[in-house]
Amino acid sequence: MPSQTPARPSLCVFCGAKMGVNPAHAEAARRLGQAIAAQGWRLVYGAGDVGLMGEVARATQGAGGATFGVIPVHLMQMEVGKRDLSTFVVTETMHERKKVMFMNADVIAMLPGGAGSLDEFFEVLTWAQIGLHQKPIWLIDVAGYWHPLVALIDHVIAQGFAAPSLRDLFQVLTLEEVCARLEK
Ligand code: AMP
Repeated sequence: MPSQTPARPSLCVFCGAKMGVNPAHAEAARRLGQAIAAQGWRLVYGAGDVGLMGEVARATQGAGGATFGVIPVHLMQMEVGKRDLSTFVVTETMHERKKVMFMNADVIAMLPGGAGSLDEFFEVLTWAQIGLHQKPIWLIDVAGYWHPLVALIDHVIAQGFAAPSLRDLFQVLTLEEVCARLEK
């Protein structure tokens, strides 16, 4: 499938299909969506209208930004496929979804989320580890949510199951730092 090269840069956001218990996470998703629109980026995401996914998408749209969503057909109901996106793609499988999201992204970011977000994060991280891409990966740490993940990765490195260079393949950033990077 040929990669489309849009005029504006695209930020692929992995995040929860749930809201989480801390309202700071939904607030961060909304602020990220607003920044994506304000700085002329395009949101690429899983096309759901639930949880943080819905928050970031509605905030991007509300601020006049472009949105590109990809959802597998079997999640259309469960994740409330958001058909009013600038571009709405329905795939047959989860693997196609991840591939289309990745191919249409310049930078990958992860807000707080659950097992699905972690799966997406580790896929792009492990692809980077074996040299399949050099796209930046930003771990957006809201209220310390990802500290245990970073500690786990440090543990994996300390125990000799990954090279220390794994730590260089992603960056842990605050929301403010991410917004500043979108300005450049
Ligand atoms: P979660 O972080 O678990 O709330 O899931 C966030 C998003 O990841 C949702 O759109 C899920 O459909 C998606 N997801 C769940 N499992 C997987 C998986 N194995 N591979 C890719 N995406 C997934």
